[in-house]
Amino acid sequence: MATTDLNDLAKRLEAGERRALSRAITLVESARADHRAQAVELLDALKPGGKQALRIGMSGTPGVGKSTFIEAFGMFLIERGLKVAVLAVDPSSARSGGSILGDKTRMEELSRHPRAFIRPSPSQSQLGGVARRTREAVALCEAAGFDVVLIETVGVGQSETMVAEMSDLFLLLIAPAGGDELQGVKRGIMEIADMILVNKADGDLKPTATRTCADYTGALKLLRKRPQDPEGYPKAMMVSAVTHDGLPEAWEAMETLAAWRKESGHWDKMRAEQARHWFMEDLRAGLLARLDKDPEVRARIADLGARVERGDLSPTVAADEVLATLGG
Ligand code: GDP
Repeated sequence: MATTDLNDLAKRLEAGERRALSRAITLVESARADHRAQAVELLDALKPGGKQALRIGMSGTPGVGKSTFIEAFGMFLIERGLKVAVLAVDPSSARSGGSILGDKTRMEELSRHPRAFIRPSPSQSQLGGVARRTREAVALCEAAGFDVVLIETVGVGQSETMVAEMSDLFLLLIAPAGGDELQGVKRGIMEIADMILVNKADGDLKPTATRTCADYTGALKLLRKRPQDPEGYPKAMMVSAVTHDGLPEAWEAMETLAAWRKESGHWDKMRAEQARHWFMEDLRAGLLARLDKDPEVRARIADLGARVERGDLSPTVAADEVLATLGG
């Protein structure tokens, strides 16, 4: 695509044209070198300092009700006149050969709505590649004027941290459960969550949900206080994606938190730190890719790796030897 076409694409995207947004995301998702160059040019052509979207990261184990919640919550926001984009990050999609998330059949109403935009997970084997593409897709949705960008991921290890690093707010969805085992939710995930939403707080599950919510409220109080939290946050709340109970309260709590962070300067600070984080990540990935491109260096790395594994060489010395090939 020529520069003039890219500028035209950027303009149409900024005018909120969905087709332009789809095309732009396809471009940033492509692994082709010429597409990558165009993607960089496109991102550069977007006007900086435009309206910011509220980026909401969301995670939860399969079956907790993420798709159902996004359909309900997305429509709730749309009914309030907002434009909603949904992006999915599915680290397993490369293995299973298809995306489980972004399953449009469960988001039927939302996926058909003109003020909504749903994009399933790109199939990528490497989390690093997914991270960059998702982050760029978030920036594109923001440039296209979306008010809320939901970034959904399944509760598997690193993908949650990655999504939290590109979100203004991070939600953890959990299901009601008996006992006090806190469902094996890892401490690390509790620490990145701004809000824990106990879903399925309806019908027979309501009493269990109430107990689960109280357990999490207690557990959150024990966590170290973070500077980016006002009084009462992080907090646990009950919702039902089926009956829509609790959705207005959950949204109000998100808006309150976002407003507090904006006023206190934490919003800008968090975004600035995230930008720096991704800059360093890209630099790291770029350097590794560059090393990997040279067959001689690649062979050398494989050989050194084997020697380190056998205990013939220390990791420090081996890394030093590779770094020396970069000069300096
Ligand atoms: P995901 O795998 O996290 O995307 O979960 P789904 O959205 O596919 O939901 C898994 C199952 O839980 C489905 O059978 C849903 O109908 C059910 N479910 C989701 N949300 C609720 C809820 O709020 N209440 C009840 N009772 N069931 C729900």
